[in-house]
Amino acid sequence: SNKRAYNFNAGPSALPLEVLEKAQQELVNFQESGMSIMEMSHRSATFEKVHNEAIFRLRKLFAIPNDYEILFLQGGASLQFTMIPMNFLKNGKTASYIMTGVWSEKAYKEAKLFGEPVQIASTKENQYRNIPTFDEIDVDTDDAYVHVTSNNTIYGTQWTEFPNTGEVPLIADMSSDIMSKPVDISKFDMIYAGAQKNLGPSGVTVVIARKDFLAKANSEIPTILKYSTHAESNSLYNTPPTFGIYMLGEVLKWIEEKGGLTAIAQQNEEKAKLIYDVIDNSNGFYTGHASKESRSLMNITFRVADEELEQQFLSEAKEAGFIGLNGHRSVGGCRASAYNSVPLETCKALSDFMIAFKTKHQ
Ligand code: PMP
Repeated sequence: SNKRAYNFNAGPSALPLEVLEKAQQELVNFQESGMSIMEMSHRSATFEKVHNEAIFRLRKLFAIPNDYEILFLQGGASLQFTMIPMNFLKNGKTASYIMTGVWSEKAYKEAKLFGEPVQIASTKENQYRNIPTFDEIDVDTDDAYVHVTSNNTIYGTQWTEFPNTGEVPLIADMSSDIMSKPVDISKFDMIYAGAQKNLGPSGVTVVIARKDFLAKANSEIPTILKYSTHAESNSLYNTPPTFGIYMLGEVLKWIEEKGGLTAIAQQNEEKAKLIYDVIDNSNGFYTGHASKESRSLMNITFRVADEELEQQFLSEAKEAGFIGLNGHRSVGGCRASAYNSVPLETCKALSDFMIAFKTKHQ
């Protein structure tokens, strides 16, 4: 049956039903080819068209200027934690890392293998409840780059504006909020994201990078780990995740049909507000983890006042068909991830459930 769960998974996460149904329809015979998209050569004209259209749509929808490369890589955002310093840091060279959560920590850890990353700001002492203010950020002009995590999936915080790093290239891990709203791409030298939250299934990592930044990369590194290898071959150096790229293209078409990123952003605000309003109007029955000014529209993290009641909340929610509401195993509590493809009705259902649960148990 087509009964869909209220899916609040943090990643991989909900995909648009329309996209899944189209993929199902095309699964065994893609455009009269007599085979699935998964069964054909990545060098075939049919696949190349799918591939190039996905790149074209990404450029158009996210307003990516022509002096930026768009790459489809593998290895997840986690491989980018390594590839970035491998390509752009050298022994003794510094890079600034702004620490806003576990994913920033993981990125920083890899950079230590190649050069001298410096934590120029961190909100760890505040349990990563907030994003640092700009006056806490002091960039060294000798830095190879500054690294930020635009949305902190585990703590539920999000940058709304990014620091001006002057001549120093700014790199953002946008894994959990890419294309959830329009962004001024020209502020960044590189943006990367695993597709599995806002853009498609896992297996594809989107990298958007300024061409002249890529030109500064180290050359004495393995071929497959050089950005230039992938840039020079239109991300077809080796066999790409063809089904994932096809799905990404279909999700981009869906975003286009929804009215593009301005419309998506508006909907995302509306969705998050439904849940934050319940938290804020609950007289402390629910408490948000993130400071209000740093709240994420993607991952809504909260606690139920009493620990026992929190367990009951999670189990009653599960019974009522809500999936993925447990907080990350490292922090506990509750988390509702409301990425692009999570429908407004799903968020409305959760807000209604939260109100009813409070009425019943307060
Ligand atoms: N960065 C962020 C902000 C994330 O949320 C995640 C995954 N949850 C990662 C990086 C790691 O991504 P991947 O699993 O694609 O390596």
